[in-house]
Amino acid sequence: MNGNLPDWSCVGITQNCESSAKHSWPGAESRLPLQSIKVTAGMRRVYMDANATTPLLPEVMEAMRPYWMEHFGNASSIHLHGQQAHTAVNRARETMAEFFNCHEAEVVFNSGGTEGDNTAIFGLLRPGDHLITTSIEHSAILEAARRVAHKGVETTFVAPERSGLINPMDIRRAMRPGTRLISVMLANNETGVLQPVEEIGKIAGDAGIFFHIDAVQGAGKVELDVRRFGCHLCSISAHKMHGPKGVGAMFVRRGTPLEPLLVGGSHERRQRAGTENVPGIVGLAKAAELAMHSLADGTIDRLATMRNWLEEAILQIPGTAVNGAHYFDCHPERLIKDCHPERLIKDCHPERLIKDCHPERAQRVEGPAVASSSGEPVPRVANTTNIWFDQLEGEALVIALDLKGVSISGGSACHSGATEPSHVLMAMGLDKTRARASLRFSLLRTATGADIDYVLQVVPQAVEHLRALAPVAAGTMD
Ligand code: PLP
Repeated sequence: MNGNLPDWSCVGITQNCESSAKHSWPGAESRLPLQSIKVTAGMRRVYMDANATTPLLPEVMEAMRPYWMEHFGNASSIHLHGQQAHTAVNRARETMAEFFNCHEAEVVFNSGGTEGDNTAIFGLLRPGDHLITTSIEHSAILEAARRVAHKGVETTFVAPERSGLINPMDIRRAMRPGTRLISVMLANNETGVLQPVEEIGKIAGDAGIFFHIDAVQGAGKVELDVRRFGCHLCSISAHKMHGPKGVGAMFVRRGTPLEPLLVGGSHERRQRAGTENVPGIVGLAKAAELAMHSLADGTIDRLATMRNWLEEAILQIPGTAVNGAHYFDCHPERLIKDCHPERLIKDCHPERLIKDCHPERAQRVEGPAVASSSGEPVPRVANTTNIWFDQLEGEALVIALDLKGVSISGGSACHSGATEPSHVLMAMGLDKTRARASLRFSLLRTATGADIDYVLQVVPQAVEHLRALAPVAAGTMD
């Protein structure tokens, strides 16, 4: 083999690649064909950064193939080529309507999550309006909010609880007469924590406020149901769910007065100008169809089992904890709501109510702001875990693992290269040192037991090595 070239011989030869798997994984027999392990110059490579992006599934590639060269027509043309493209877009729209649980006329194809998020903010808000969003959103929302601030739109950024959850009561408290839009993500890209969008949708609906959900990281990992969520707008992106990059879709509830971001032709019912990206749209729909199957056939459950296995094994390393996995010191209202919803509206002292119904948690309410792996689990997407490694610089561990053939990241890919610690973890109350010492492991839907085994082989070694080399913030490990 040429030493400079990767040896891809393992691609597609699953048995050989996985022969060293130590565990028998649930569902191992029904693995999807695309494996994330490849051998580069004799070394395994495991990609565990699915929240940054995912590879196409072969079925997606196949579905898109004819639309690059054969059926290349413009979906607006009236001749045969145009009609072929138009039909493909219509079919994709039907699939996406099923994916969102909405009407076909409520699906708008676009270029992805950033465009959807920007459209929600720029398309609904006018000077004098008030926006409520959260401090753990993706920069596609945070930066858009900063931009409209210059135009006289005030924003309230609601902070999460230390568990990573947004408390719907905090959203309610932030509402005021001029509030026009609430924008909350479905799943956080760094912790995977699923937000209580249904409760927030109800609060928004009761108050007559528009509600946007950034579902980019939740789509394909949990069932989307825009009717149940009670939202007016919902953005998704194909490349986070094994579809192509640069294409996405947005649910726009009928009657929502959303100004288009792009104007020009009358595409997408005048809601998004620009010649349709037909191969991309076809790929998005195929990815959505496969995602729906994987939710129904147990693939996502198996992914959660693998993630838990990975997490539990990494937590055996001293000085580690999961960020955003447990109700740690939940907001008093949330605890009360669990057992005394009727008392929420009364002016009772929260601590007293918690002691009544959750004495074991009352102490935690007063606990310090640190990551914890105790307490009840919070809802999370199946593929993500965010782990803190005491006395480590996360970036050093990312590099060390990369050299060992493992691709993971410290958080949002959009911030890679930035030295600032994660705004999400900081908002959850972790201090800078702990936030910098935290890494995100996000599994592809096609992850295998052999992937997990390999990561578990190299992570403890790398952690031990780095801690011995250059301990940072020594003394924090207790
Ligand atoms: N929203 C969230 C939660 C994301 O994680 C991302 C991408 O990382 C985006 C929006 C932006 O999506 P896209 O890359 O399709 O523009």
